[in-house]
Amino acid sequence: METTQRNRLSEDERVRLQQRLHTLWSDMYVLTKPEEVIPYECDGLAAYREVPLAVVLPETEAQVQQVLKTCQQLNLPVVPRGAGTGLAGSAMPIPDGVVLSMAKFNRILDVDLQSRTATVQPGVRNLAISEAAAPYQLYYAPDPSSQIACTIGGNVAENSGGVHCLKYGLTVNNVLQVRAVTIDGDIIEFGSRAPDSPGLDLLGVLIGSEGMFCVTTEVVVKLVPKPQLAQVIMASFDDMGKAGDAVAAVIAAGIIPAGLEMMDGPATQAVEDFLHAGYDTNAKAILLCESDGTPEEVAEEIAHMEEVLNGCGATRIQVSRNEIERLVFWSGRKNAFPAAGRLSPDYYCMDGTIPRRSIGNLLRSIEEMEQKYQLRCINVFHAGDGNMHPLVLFNGQDHEEWLRAEAFGADILEECVRLGGTVTGEHGVGIEKINSMCVQYTEQERDAFWSVKYAFDPTGLLNFDKAIPTKNRCAEYGKLVVRRGETLPHSELSRF
Ligand SMILES: Cc1cc2nc3c(=O)[nH]c(=O)nc-3n(C[C@H](O)[C@H](O)[C@H](O)COP(=O)(O)OP(=O)(O)OC[C@H]3O[C@@H](n4cnc5c(N)ncnc54)[C@H](O)[C@@H]3O)c2cc1C
Repeated sequence: METTQRNRLSEDERVRLQQRLHTLWSDMYVLTKPEEVIPYECDGLAAYREVPLAVVLPETEAQVQQVLKTCQQLNLPVVPRGAGTGLAGSAMPIPDGVVLSMAKFNRILDVDLQSRTATVQPGVRNLAISEAAAPYQLYYAPDPSSQIACTIGGNVAENSGGVHCLKYGLTVNNVLQVRAVTIDGDIIEFGSRAPDSPGLDLLGVLIGSEGMFCVTTEVVVKLVPKPQLAQVIMASFDDMGKAGDAVAAVIAAGIIPAGLEMMDGPATQAVEDFLHAGYDTNAKAILLCESDGTPEEVAEEIAHMEEVLNGCGATRIQVSRNEIERLVFWSGRKNAFPAAGRLSPDYYCMDGTIPRRSIGNLLRSIEEMEQKYQLRCINVFHAGDGNMHPLVLFNGQDHEEWLRAEAFGADILEECVRLGGTVTGEHGVGIEKINSMCVQYTEQERDAFWSVKYAFDPTGLLNFDKAIPTKNRCAEYGKLVVRRGETLPHSELSRF
């Protein structure tokens, strides 16, 4: 069992269903008017849109159970939603389906100093957890650049990362327990408050499942002590390849920086024009390398990193002298996406991961693709993890230009696979990279993913047609894919 092709509802059927949902969910906020539901038609990937049948905002776990049971009985697809900042279209509605917004689950239930944990509802913003823990000198380490807005429920669903994840781990390494509701209304608890729990590691399976298995209603996260001191080095290079080599050299020297980020020349220019933060606009690449710990540890690590960076040919090195300067150095990297928004009406953010040694190769390929697709691309990335974020600049009003941007993005991801990497790093697959999953995984592997999906959600109603491609989709994609002017051989076969 894999796919059920759904026929679109007629306008009359939509109206009848909407009325029924208002009756069944009369104790909840249910939105059905066009002006109410259109704000939910996409997430941060605005190129893909779908207006939902209805949006429901439950406030209690019992109401979530009720919503899911109704959707099961009426055979309605349902998409859970946090803040809608996802960049892969994972929270985009399904045609004639329900959006289950978790926005009202926004309470921090407990901060436990003894176990250094926080128990939070899924609609709590990532940054709000660290703010609640700050009076106790604790914080929640995974820090997506969107942390001011994105929710922990979304972070769990996407296994989100951030600057600090190189040293402190991704969401999966910082969540101890998740409570969730299945499509038939059952409650499951994954993991435990203890560092380990008996049985299979289903928590690891759930984290990153993009809302396709169940709906999270409570999360227990680890808190870590705030370091006494943090300092960052901003290093300039006159060549992207040298900067890429420097990243590998820092790690090879046995250093695990608290952050190791890179921007290419055009991205540096864009953020400098936006923020005037003192970035070196003559550089072809900028590295930001952070160290945190006790003052002695930081002094030693900063000196070691300076030595390695100089050995790799850094042309300029600045070390932050105080906390304000450290935040200014980071402000450019953290605002790279908004800065890209000033260069072009739209940008398409890719999220591939490659072995660190291949950074230079990928960047060279992207330069060739800029010529091929006649579009500009700027690059920012979590260099320490080899997680690249090429931003393809385009004008969304021009459909032909969007198609070129989409093909450019797919080409970048396939190049990541060719270099031994993957089609996603931290943003998830969603709808954006679903075709690229046909390239990354064999049919047997995709069948295994479907088996796990159906073990949790036998109806297939939860966020269907995201993240795991159907055989039909892969077959269609194979027919469309063109390489150097020729379709791939035997593209009609289901392996493609
Ligand atoms: C400017 C910008 C910068 C970003 N930087 C980063 C970054 O540095 N690192 C990074 O990893 N990401 C980044 N992102 C992407 C995005 O913020 C993350 O993917 C984030 O985790 C999404 O959270 P959200 O609350 O907005 O979830 P949404 O976008 O609403 O949903 C994302 C997924 O989570 C599911 N979901 C949400 N809540 C629940 C729930 N309660 N139960 C089950 N499923 C649920 C949805 O169905 C969907 O599949 C960035 C986005 C933007 C716009």
